[in-house]
Amino acid sequence: MVELREAVDIVAAVLYIVGVMRLRTPATARSGNLIAAVGMVLVLAVTWIGQPASNLLLIVIVAAAGAAVGIWAGRGVAVTAMPQMVALLNGMGGGAAALVALEQVLAATAGGAGAPVGLSLPAVFTVLCGAFSLGGSAIAFLKLQELMTGRPITFGGQHVVNALVLLVLAVAGVWAIALGTGAADGLVVAVAVGGALLGVLVVLPVGGADMPVIISLLNALTGLAVAISGFVLSSAVLIVAGALVGASGFILTQLMAKAMHRSIGNVLFAGFGGGSQGAAAGSAAEGTVHPTQADEVAMMLAYAQLVVIVPGSGLAVARAQQEVRELMDLLVARGVDVRFAIHPVAGRMPGHMNVILAEANVPYDRLYEMERINSDFPRADVALVIGANDVTNPAARNDPGSPIYGMPILDVDKAHTVVVCKRSMASGFAGVDNPLFTMDKTLMLFGDARATVLALIGQLKEMAA
Ligand code: NDP
Repeated sequence: MVELREAVDIVAAVLYIVGVMRLRTPATARSGNLIAAVGMVLVLAVTWIGQPASNLLLIVIVAAAGAAVGIWAGRGVAVTAMPQMVALLNGMGGGAAALVALEQVLAATAGGAGAPVGLSLPAVFTVLCGAFSLGGSAIAFLKLQELMTGRPITFGGQHVVNALVLLVLAVAGVWAIALGTGAADGLVVAVAVGGALLGVLVVLPVGGADMPVIISLLNALTGLAVAISGFVLSSAVLIVAGALVGASGFILTQLMAKAMHRSIGNVLFAGFGGGSQGAAAGSAAEGTVHPTQADEVAMMLAYAQLVVIVPGSGLAVARAQQEVRELMDLLVARGVDVRFAIHPVAGRMPGHMNVILAEANVPYDRLYEMERINSDFPRADVALVIGANDVTNPAARNDPGSPIYGMPILDVDKAHTVVVCKRSMASGFAGVDNPLFTMDKTLMLFGDARATVLALIGQLKEMAA
């Protein structure tokens, strides 16, 4: 039985690694997900086989209920609600790892027996990381689901309070490990409660729109908790799976922060990006605005050779991806070369634009990453910006005083004509004005992105009739 479990662990670990590798491109991501899921089913099955019959029934009932809720929630979730879904699942993962480790410590010390340091050390770490992730993810979920304000919640002496809680946790944790007996039980429970409290305190001051970075960081912590719990349970597959999640989560966090030209510390402590507050604060950029109408834009698009569509978070809000796909089809049918420019932090989560465009079956070969598309803008007849703002802001390139200075952007302003579809002159997530909107070559097509694209489709169809 032990040999079978070890063999399955190795097979599952290989499946996880292959699965994660295939997540690197949209074309292979689905199969990668499936391969990793097969690995998980294998591990579950072999774990169940070893259980006494009385436990098995309970496990099957609980697992079936969990799977049913997971399938129901996963199928029903809107793409725009994906970040809070990830936060929820991530928090559960962290909480589960913490509970498993807690149970192991309590079982080892039951009846006054001592828990060896080899068990209590990783167990206390797992409890701390898992509980932190649970507390932080819960707040991230509440903010993103708008069950509480998405703005940074700050109070005087916040950093001192956080440091004190961390200090108390460190003392309780070290004491629990040093005692290693039943007397440590209360301390480990305190580490669990304090860890969750610290997670809450750390995430409260983070602005709603910064949540994806935080979720990625919490995800990495959950991975770490799971990996360390592998040492508690002597499970190789938990160590590998946790290490994969932890490492990829940390790398993703770094990449997102880099693409936003921010440090992790700035995301955690600066109270930047209060979601809607940024837009509310946004004012019209100085200069003359050139409003336009759908018929004028449709004409330009119809007779263009190269049109670069720049999707942003407004496209996801308006749920206009199917309409954008239809617009693309109409233009391609007229012989226009249509390309989509994908900025790494466009939208509100990593890969957001790839996901929503894939949902609308936009062919992958029309999606161009920033590095590839930027050289195409100077020969683009029209850059059609749909619900994007910060990722097109030339101030990031030209204005050292801008909060987003240094952030790599899409060189939309180099196209012959720029058309921006958005509802108003309001700013985007970063809360800064965008001089692109008042450039002579820029036309503003005001309105909800979906309605606007539908109007363009209508005009193009009329022209074709
Ligand atoms: P922005 O947030 O800069 O701008 C989006 C624009 O969409 C707004 O100016 C808004 O203007 C417009 N908009 C909103 N709703 C609609 C609608 N229904 N129809 C038409 N337009 C609409 O988005 P970008 O994608 O350009 O940039 C993403 C920002 O988010 C960056 O600053 C990035 O750093 C940040 N970020 C991204 C993360 C990621 O992982 N992708 C993670 C964390 C932050 P208006 O109200 O006038 O319509």
